[in-house]
Amino acid sequence: MLTRRHMLAGAAAAGGTVFLPYAARAAAHLGDMFETETGQITVHPVSHASFVMETPEMVIYCDPVGGAETYADYPAPDLILITHEHGDHYDLPTLEGLVQGGTQMITNPAVHDMLPDALRAKATAMANGDSGSVGGMSIDAIPAYNITEGRLKYHPQGRDNGYILGIDGFRVYIAGDTEGTPEMRALEDIDLAFVPMNLPYTMDVDQAADAVADFAPTYVYPYHYRGNDPAEFARLLGDTGVATEVKMGPWYS
Ligand code: ZN
Ligand code: ZN
Repeated sequence: MLTRRHMLAGAAAAGGTVFLPYAARAAAHLGDMFETETGQITVHPVSHASFVMETPEMVIYCDPVGGAETYADYPAPDLILITHEHGDHYDLPTLEGLVQGGTQMITNPAVHDMLPDALRAKATAMANGDSGSVGGMSIDAIPAYNITEGRLKYHPQGRDNGYILGIDGFRVYIAGDTEGTPEMRALEDIDLAFVPMNLPYTMDVDQAADAVADFAPTYVYPYHYRGNDPAEFARLLGDTGVATEVKMGPWYS
């Protein structure tokens, strides 16, 4: 089993007289650390659906948007994951500023088709259900879609991805923009999950808590929750009795 070693963000933010924007920046930069069998994973929430994750093997950016300068404090990406085409997940100028010689990309097929040739040459398309690997890390593409009438147009079934990363026995689930689908609820052995909660695009905090309780990851980050209260999600999840620990990040600071 895996245990959280420590969380630096809280310590960094506890400096009292520290100028707040710097503290927020420092907290985001230091990130939260998780133990794998061979080293640490550090998660840096950046904004909304964008984060940086450092593993013992590589630096991964997930859905980077907001301009390459937003990532100036982080190490360059070895791998960029794109879940789908919406502007809060896929931004071509940001990618063009971030991708370097050795950077690989994994996208859903729709985004792969949108990429200019130079970026497409560095990208691999994964469709729902596909499995692959980058270095020693396994990657599974998990369906991400709406299931509620009236929301189906936002993320039609079959188009968009979530991802499960297998890193030295530590399994990370990045849900993407989705509701609590049967595929999400059936997940097993997830150590760390990123789950969205905002209407009308994904789901409300009640549905998110109900779905997360079904697969009960060790840790869950509410992300992609603009306009909603992640503390309410945490309360609802706690009411279900699962042992999942809710991780809060500076997604909107
Ligand atoms: Zn979306
Ligand atoms: Zn989104």
